[in-house]
Amino acid sequence: MPSIAIIGSGPSGCFLAEILALKLPEVSIDIYERLPHPFGLAVSGVAPDHPHTRKVTDQLQRTLDREEVNLICNTQVGSHISYETLKSRYDRVIFAVGAEQDRQLGISGENLSNVYGSGAFTRWYNSHPDAQGLNPSLGKKVGIIGNGNVALDIARMLAKTAEEHQQSDLTPQVREALANHSIEEIHIFGRRGPTDASFTLPELTELGNLANARVRVSPDAFAGIDTNQLPISQQKVIQQLQSFADLSIATSNKIQIQFHFFATPESISGKDNIEHLHIKDTRSGQADSVQLDSLITAIGYQTPKIEGVPYDDLKKRFAHTDSLIEPGVYCVGWCQRGPQGVIPTNRSEAMSLARKLIKELEA
Ligand SMILES: Cc1cc2nc3c(=O)[nH]c(=O)nc-3n(C[C@H](O)[C@H](O)[C@H](O)COP(=O)(O)OP(=O)(O)OC[C@H]3O[C@@H](n4cnc5c(N)ncnc54)[C@H](O)[C@@H]3O)c2cc1C
Repeated sequence: MPSIAIIGSGPSGCFLAEILALKLPEVSIDIYERLPHPFGLAVSGVAPDHPHTRKVTDQLQRTLDREEVNLICNTQVGSHISYETLKSRYDRVIFAVGAEQDRQLGISGENLSNVYGSGAFTRWYNSHPDAQGLNPSLGKKVGIIGNGNVALDIARMLAKTAEEHQQSDLTPQVREALANHSIEEIHIFGRRGPTDASFTLPELTELGNLANARVRVSPDAFAGIDTNQLPISQQKVIQQLQSFADLSIATSNKIQIQFHFFATPESISGKDNIEHLHIKDTRSGQADSVQLDSLITAIGYQTPKIEGVPYDDLKKRFAHTDSLIEPGVYCVGWCQRGPQGVIPTNRSEAMSLARKLIKELEA
């Protein structure tokens, strides 16, 4: 009876367990999870106002309920149990630990107060045990660095009214903090232009439909863009962004959400707290600065090292060749390919690793 250890109970670990349990008769799968609860970013990343996306946990739970699958919570591999011990106990060891650490900007002032990584920040509004004490101080002017959906999630979570948050899955403390902040401006910075942004249309459209927010993009961000040359999905994103460039629409008392494209962060200044983000126009090199009370960096994540597991210091994830770390040891999900891709992407990747494992174990 083959024995398999999967480290991490996020989507990739659970999808892999599901396929292996279905296809390998008599397999025994232990899933090690460092937290008291399973499901990884499906509950601690996915925004709490998107309950339909979180519904995937129903499917993941069905896998954990299978008799071939045993979830071992509160057990951190590398601290409570070593990599060497796992290798000696199981026929196969598969890492599915994600990429939990925020990447650093690498500019001066990054360690000032009120500068937060998006991992820490999204864990806070998702009431993750690691972010209990964060209590972010946001002020009136919030900056967000990043041009992906995580940046839009954060802007939307902050700009929604208490009424719009009624259906959001929030603890009373987070609900109160979101209802009582005094945010007037949210600035979203990206180093490159609108055609390089990785936003998706539903998230962008949702931002434009908020009751108490007005989204702005400077019309000159679109100079030189020929939308006809772009794939249809990207054309739609650009059209949505262009609709935010209509400066004639009144703003009244709404929270202003301003996109700053071609804005390379150069440094952060302030006494103890952040006061300014200094940026450089990526095209012209012209310097500028934006006054801010807080800043959230949404520029990607990295996989933390685990003692003994080969690591790629350049790519900031485990070192592997086509998922194989060393004989009998594999990786899957964000710790395999880096922090890219939505939940279903992990399913197809888990499927291809499962095929490989089944072939090996049935040989
Ligand atoms: C802020 C944010 C919002 C997102 N929103 C969406 C969305 O709306 N829709 C969508 O489809 N995708 C979304 N994604 C992407 C999606 O969450 C990922 O594709 C997916 O969660 C990656 O799965 P994973 O299993 O590789 O990693 P994770 O989900 O990170 O799971 C890793 C698990 O391993 C555990 N672990 C870590 N280290 C150890 C250790 N040493 N020992 C034991 N256990 C350990 C962790 O606690 C965690 O449970 C979002 C991502 C982020 C960051």
